[in-house]
Amino acid sequence: MMPESVLRKAAEEMLNYNGSGQSVMEMSHRSPVYDAIIKETEALFRKTLSVPDNYKVLFLQGGATAQFSAIPLNFMNGSGKADYIISGQFSKKAFKEAQKYGDVKAIASSEDATFSYIPKITREDIRPDADYVYVCYNNTIFGTTFPYIPDTGDIPLIADMSSCILSGPIDVSKFAVIYGGAQKNMGPAGLTVVIIREDMLGKARDITPVMMDYAVQAENDSMYNTPPTYAIYIHKLILEWVNNEIGGIENMEKVNREKAAILYDYLDSCKLFKPTANKEDRSLMNVCFVTGDKELDALFCKEAAAEGFVNIKGHRSVGGMRASIYNAMPTEGVKKLVEFMKAFEAKHQ
Ligand SMILES: *Cc1c(COP(=O)(O)O)cnc(C)c1O
Repeated sequence: MMPESVLRKAAEEMLNYNGSGQSVMEMSHRSPVYDAIIKETEALFRKTLSVPDNYKVLFLQGGATAQFSAIPLNFMNGSGKADYIISGQFSKKAFKEAQKYGDVKAIASSEDATFSYIPKITREDIRPDADYVYVCYNNTIFGTTFPYIPDTGDIPLIADMSSCILSGPIDVSKFAVIYGGAQKNMGPAGLTVVIIREDMLGKARDITPVMMDYAVQAENDSMYNTPPTYAIYIHKLILEWVNNEIGGIENMEKVNREKAAILYDYLDSCKLFKPTANKEDRSLMNVCFVTGDKELDALFCKEAAAEGFVNIKGHRSVGGMRASIYNAMPTEGVKKLVEFMKAFEAKHQ
């Protein structure tokens, strides 16, 4: 979901942005009017997530998946080794991609238990000469999230936060690189935001495609070529919504915790549905559950869709159900879903 007020603002400004006589879609990315938009977006992003001054914020294209390649190309250039924690499908994909470029080790995996938990790692698990350690912070498909920030010592920690970024505060200083595709919590598809510590720049291999070289993107303020201009503008409206309507990133987290608790409390107390994620590792964004009966799951999804609860079917790789309750999902929406689940349970126990 997108916040309705953001969509309304975008509609109002569609034909004439701020008296410019142009739609944001029509602007040259190098025009002063657009320059102000991208600069304000960056400033607001930095303020919202308290990004320290020694980090760059980049607005890129190619989705989170392009970063699966960009990361080894940019950073696997010391020992040529990188250590990955495999906590779901997206970290597995990133791991496979990195294997093209060097000696990549899965230092922990929860695949043996269908990725229902987050592996615990300590410094001893990490190869001392690894160029970086990689994690996927919130596992969108399996509904788990890291309950701790891995201690990697001096080894750079890199995190895919596509499905949790902007859902609450982050201690950016604990990470060398954080990135996320915008389409879960930050805006429309087409924009990927990368937060990168300055000492990580300039390490790319010679063969790195220029579009994937973070140093080139940083030197050019994300304007080496045309950035995803409209998606960046909508991202700015989302940031304004978090700050002005929700009351800031701490409040955003508070609301998200309340929403998730409504659903998990019901799941923990009911008989028909079972939550699938390990309790300590539960995601606030993606709530996964099953009935234990595939036919009943399918019936639930069908009846839910008829009532307007769309996209509740679990990912095709796991089945069951997944309620994605990203930032823009109102508390009311979660309450309505629980009411619907209660009514379904009453019919089918
Ligand atoms: C959705 C998602 C991706 C893939 O994003 P694309 O922008 O489609 O490449 C990667 N990682 C995580 C954690 C995701 O949720």
